[in-house]
Amino acid sequence: MAERILLVEDEEKLARMVEMELRYEGYEVAKAFDGRTGLEKALSGEFDLVLLDIMLPTLNGMEVLRRIRKESQMPVIMLTARDSVPDKVSGLNSGADDYITKPFAIEELLARIRAALRKREAAVPPPAEEILTAGPLTLDVSRHRVTVGETEVELTRREFDLLRYLLANKGRVISREGLLDHVWGFDFVGETNAVDVYISFLRSKLDDPFGIKLIHTVRGVGYVIKEEE
Ligand code: CA
Repeated sequence: MAERILLVEDEEKLARMVEMELRYEGYEVAKAFDGRTGLEKALSGEFDLVLLDIMLPTLNGMEVLRRIRKESQMPVIMLTARDSVPDKVSGLNSGADDYITKPFAIEELLARIRAALRKREAAVPPPAEEILTAGPLTLDVSRHRVTVGETEVELTRREFDLLRYLLANKGRVISREGLLDHVWGFDFVGETNAVDVYISFLRSKLDDPFGIKLIHTVRGVGYVIKEEE
């Protein structure tokens, strides 16, 4: 299967040129022209590697990289116009796998891409069995399965991700902003009630039908999953 590359680059001419070359080499390519769109696509799980420009509208490349790294270890190669050492160092410190300075020869970019993809294949550990629990609630990450007692509960992807994050932090109060940042992956300015809405969906599927109370509101702070005492 062709490897899928996400190219986040606001210079459309350069983006089209790189896209053509990558397709010619047999990669599947999608483009994003600004940081926010790039971040959303990068976190969609549909790509094997990201080529990420640093100077981008809406969200700069370093910030996009930082947020990708909160969720994913996918290979990221930074494209930088500025051939300055501090930039390269901060890029690599923030978790970039490599960087390439514009203008670059396409052969060099292809070599970096192959190296980053190889490194990823070598680094991928066997899938971890991750089972999270609270009282009668069990979430099986690899099977994407949620049960209360013996009963399986159907959740949407967002509900599942939200529950997984709360369970992974069982006993810790997580703010709405923290949940937005980790579960939604980017800022929803002025719409933190998206969290409240999804919390109410979870309660209506998990707490109410089973007569239990696992998801607690901490007024003015956020939410926490606790086992009943
Ligand atoms: Ca740029």
